[in-house]
This record gives sequence, structure tokens and C-alpha cells, in this order.
Amino acid sequence: MERIGAHSHIRGLGLDDRLEPRANSQGMVGQPKARKAAGMILKMVQEGRIAGRAMLFAGPPSTGKTAIAIGMAQTLGPDVPFTMIAASEVFSLSMSKTEALTQAFRRSIGVRIKEETEVIEGEVVEMQIDRSLTGATKTGKLTIKTTDMETIYDLGTKMIDALAKEKVTAGDVISIDKTSGKVSKLGRSFARSRDYDAMGADTKFVQCPEGEIQKRKEVVHTVSLHEIDVINSRTQGFLALFAGDTGEIKPELRNQINSKVAEWREEGKAEIIPGVLFIDEVHMLDIECFSFLNRALEGELAPLVIMASNRGMARIRGTKFRSPHGLPVDLLDRVLIVSTRPYEEEDIAQIIKIRCEEEDVTLTDDALTVLTNMARDTTLRYALNMISTAQILARKRKVDKVDVEDLRRSYAYFFDEKRSVEWLKEQQVEHYRVPSATIAEAAP
Ligand code: ATP
Repeated sequence: MERIGAHSHIRGLGLDDRLEPRANSQGMVGQPKARKAAGMILKMVQEGRIAGRAMLFAGPPSTGKTAIAIGMAQTLGPDVPFTMIAASEVFSLSMSKTEALTQAFRRSIGVRIKEETEVIEGEVVEMQIDRSLTGATKTGKLTIKTTDMETIYDLGTKMIDALAKEKVTAGDVISIDKTSGKVSKLGRSFARSRDYDAMGADTKFVQCPEGEIQKRKEVVHTVSLHEIDVINSRTQGFLALFAGDTGEIKPELRNQINSKVAEWREEGKAEIIPGVLFIDEVHMLDIECFSFLNRALEGELAPLVIMASNRGMARIRGTKFRSPHGLPVDLLDRVLIVSTRPYEEEDIAQIIKIRCEEEDVTLTDDALTVLTNMARDTTLRYALNMISTAQILARKRKVDKVDVEDLRRSYAYFFDEKRSVEWLKEQQVEHYRVPSATIAEAAP
């Protein structure tokens, strides 16, 4: 089943080569200043010039803070670690807040480990695998010209199996990994020499007189520091990586791993890739977490930390002080703040269109206008949620296009935040915490 996430339409930041935002590209619309700022930071990350820095996206709800962070992750590609957490996740019962943050930091640092393997390349001159004799693929006649007879003999049946699996036939040029026996086809030879064929059916391998072909190939794996921690943690073991239940990891182990990685780095075996840690709703962290962040950002192995908050002046959790975005001033002082603004109507309509395409929903023109107005009066996220609910109602009416009527009914079924608060007031549940009061404080 294909599932469509809230940000699945985002495929990048939609910037051109000069980092100028395109009007509508890679699923991104509007918010040009914030996108450009994100692009500039990204450039520095890609050039390896930035780590241990922090930036903060500040702006009202549904203004694309998370969307831009995801656009950054998409641009960085799968080889650069990108970790996303919501600040509230840090308050878990199974580990301390600082341990949870340390793990998030170490998930965001990649170690690119280089391994050299040797491969033999050669042309298969004759290839017959006789299954009828043994019922298996263990015997066969193979003539391959190579200088490296020894390895070929060592690989023995493993290689014969691999050759059979790859359906290698005479005339194929192949490479064989000396360590794993893995066979890859590289192409077909045009200059097949008759001489080798002439050497007879019993010849399994023919040594190539010309001094053929051995190559070193570099295999690169990228793992995160956190993965190395977990794999080496005796209490956890690597299966914990799949369960996600890694528990606390001892600081001594982390120190050992840091020195090992430093050693590999010096020997040229490994490269450190500082990635990105995205902390959403950062105002939910408390003062202890903030002081941890301040310290951790100074560390040698620190990623780029991107935070997002939709709060304006807010209390710093764990203190009685208020501060912009709920962040202590010493931390604020070191972050680059990028603000996101409410969208113009045109941008909202574009985003709705993109989402409809993503969700395979067609709106009538009137419905698009109504939904755009709805987004303006409530939030973009609410309006985007209406797309799929209205579609269900349209399907029930057995029509292909979602119309105003479906939106109207969907609007009646599902409250947005403002109406929900009004309803609560009507019910005189005044002690209930009213989120709109905090939203009203949100940054520009
Ligand atoms: P909050 O403060 O509530 O967390 P946010 O600023 O992180 O909000 P998003 O979740 O990024 O807001 O945006 C709401 C929805 O609108 C998401 O589905 C997002 O993908 C989409 N969206 C927001 N901005 C853009 C944009 N510029 N281009 C395309 N889609 C966008």
C-alpha cells in the first residue's frame, strides 16, 4: 500500500544553480527568503565548511518550517545523515534527556568507511555448467583468461555458482570480487580469441599471457556514529538497531569509539560526514536540554542543528523566564534565525494544487477557491487535511471531482483549531488550556 505523508510532495528546495528560489519547483512554492537562506546553509554543509552550528526556523504554524527542513534533507541525498526529532520525544522514560539528545547528535554524524577490495577482470572464453551430472551447479567447465589463477581456484565452487546465477556465457567480460566471489558482468567482448577455445574442453581456466587484469575497487559504506555505538555496545547488540530500543550507552564506550574513528581518519580509512539534526517544536525542550545543546555544539563531532519553533515570546521550560521562541538568550545568540511568513493566497492555491496531484484528487475550480479561502481563515494544514476527507465524500456521491459541497460537509464534520476552541468556550470548559493564545504570540 502506498501511503502519502504530509510532506511527500517535497523533493528539494526548488532552487536554481545560483540558489535563487524557483516559483514552483520540486514541490516547493513561495517562502523565497527562507528557502534561499536554507540553500545557503546547505551549500556550506555540502562543502564541509559547517558543523557545530545551529539555525532556527521561526514562524507561525503551517508556514513550511518542516517542509523546508525536509527539502534540505532531500537535497543532501541519502549519504548525508539527516535526523528528525520532535523536542517532546526527548522526554522519554527509557533514557535521560541528555542521553536522548546525545543519541540524536550521533545519529546525525556519518562515518564514511572506505574498504578496498580486489577484483579480477577477465573474459569468459568458454562457459558450460553441467547441471545434469550432479543435479546442482557445482561442476562445470569454465575457461577464463586471467593472471590470477590462484584466487580463481580458491574461490572454487562459490564462483561457479555465482557465474551460473549471473547467467554468464562465453564472450562475457566479467569481474570477480576476490573476497566475496561476487560476479558482475561488465559487457561483451568483441575480440574473442580463438586460441583460448582451442585449449580444449578440460581446461578450466586459461592463464592469460598478456598479464591481465586485476583492479582495486573501493567500496564505501556510510554508517552513523550512533550505529557504531550500538553495534559495539555489549548490552545492546546490533539487533537493537532494528528494535529502536537502544537504551543508554556508556560514555566510556563512546570515548573509545571516538578514538577509534579518529584513528581510522588519520589512516585515511574513514571520513567524517557531519549531517543535520532537525529538532521540531524546539520550545518544548527545557533549560537542561538547552545547556546540553550549547555544550554539545562546541564538540568536535557536532552536526548542523536546525531547530523550528512556532512560538513568539514564550516561557523557557524549567525556568520562570520568558524569551523569544522559548530559547535561552545564550543559545539564541549562536543560532542563525530564519523567519517564515504566512503565505499569500496565490501560494496557498499552488500548494493545494500540488497536494491534490500528490493525493490523486481533482478539485473543481470553485472548490479550489473555497479551499484556498478556508486555508486563509484557518490554517494551511487544516485545508490540506480537507482534501482527502472531501474526496471520500465525493466518492460516496459517485463523482470524480471534489466540489464545494464535499468541502462544506467535510468542514462540518471536522473542526479546525479555532472552532474547536470556540466550542470549548461555549461548553464553558474555561480551565482547558487554549492553544490559540500561544499561537497569537507566534513570530512574524
Ligand atoms: P508547525 O509550526 O505547525 O510545525 P510548519 O511551519 O512546520 O508548521 P509545515 O508542516 O512545513 O509547517 O507545513 C504544513 C503543510 O504545508 C505541510 O504539508 C507542508 O508540506 C506544506 N507546505 C508548507 N510550506 C510549503 C511550501 N512552501 N511549498 C510546498 N508545500 C508546503
